[in-house]
Amino acid sequence: MHLARFPRARFAHLPTPLEPLPRLGAELGIDLWVKRDDCTGLAGGGNKTRKLEFLLGEALAQGADTLVTQGAVQSNHVRQTIAAGARFGLKTEVILEERTGSKASDYMGNGNVLLDKLMGAAIRYVPGGTDMVAELEATADSVRQRGGKPYIIPGGGSNTVGALGYVDCAREFVVQADQMDLKFDRFVTATGSAGTHAGLVAGFAALSVDIPILGFGVRAPKPKQEENVYNLAVATAETIGAAGKVKREAVVADCDYVGEGYGLVDQGVIDALTLAARTEGLLFDPVYSGKALKGLIDQAKKGAFKGERVVFLHTGGAQGLFGYQSILEPAL
Ligand SMILES: *Cc1c(COP(=O)(O)O)cnc(C)c1O
Repeated sequence: MHLARFPRARFAHLPTPLEPLPRLGAELGIDLWVKRDDCTGLAGGGNKTRKLEFLLGEALAQGADTLVTQGAVQSNHVRQTIAAGARFGLKTEVILEERTGSKASDYMGNGNVLLDKLMGAAIRYVPGGTDMVAELEATADSVRQRGGKPYIIPGGGSNTVGALGYVDCAREFVVQADQMDLKFDRFVTATGSAGTHAGLVAGFAALSVDIPILGFGVRAPKPKQEENVYNLAVATAETIGAAGKVKREAVVADCDYVGEGYGLVDQGVIDALTLAARTEGLLFDPVYSGKALKGLIDQAKKGAFKGERVVFLHTGGAQGLFGYQSILEPAL
């Protein structure tokens, strides 16, 4: 895996810190660390920034002038994509799916949406359940009809190009752990559109690192999530010259903590958000990292990580908190 073979635009603040979480770890009875990918530096940061370095690299190499992408209304991916576009003078057109069904004014207008508007993208809203792949194509067509050159970025930036960002994160993490003489027993992340999880799996496989990765799902049921991650990990491994190295058993997703659905907040998520905030001053998000943390907390309390040193990938998303004021504030 020689990532300099792939076009890349450099704008992420890397390496992100690898830090201990002694107070939160003591609550859970494990040696807990955090990989701070909420600190990637682009308009609030988060995990999409690593993917976007490779996606923008390809867009610029192709001479694109307009990025086209999609996400849920409070999408962190959309926010970071618009920021990356602004950084390189590309226009961005986004389609926001009203996936949670919420019409609350904070959900529709604050948080990530406010930042999207600040950075100046063309935004179109569509109802939940819309065929978002078809919407991406239609938007790209309209850009072409106006004489523009679109570059389509799939939801979450999750294709083999975007996943290279998390192949790189896998390498970066292993180098850090080795430099700090820290042997890790488990790597935990939220897993959604699958690019983060798949890139990590492909990266560890290519490097022959056998730290188990556990993904906490935020949307799909376990069989679907594992299939998505596995397929993308296999394709990503091929891309980086590590064909055949990804084992099916290396892909593990626990989807028991989704609750009522994608982007819907329950008491377990609120408890996780408040515990991290009050023990470590760390801000997680209600849709992804907070839901994964809810899973980590529950599994740790059940003894699943007994005696282990665990690293939790902070994928960012705290900007989305402001889209959930009406739900969070009464609970605090
Ligand atoms: C997108 C996102 C994830 C999930 O990453 P995927 O690559 O889509 O699986 C996790 N956390 C946050 C904050 C995100 O925005």
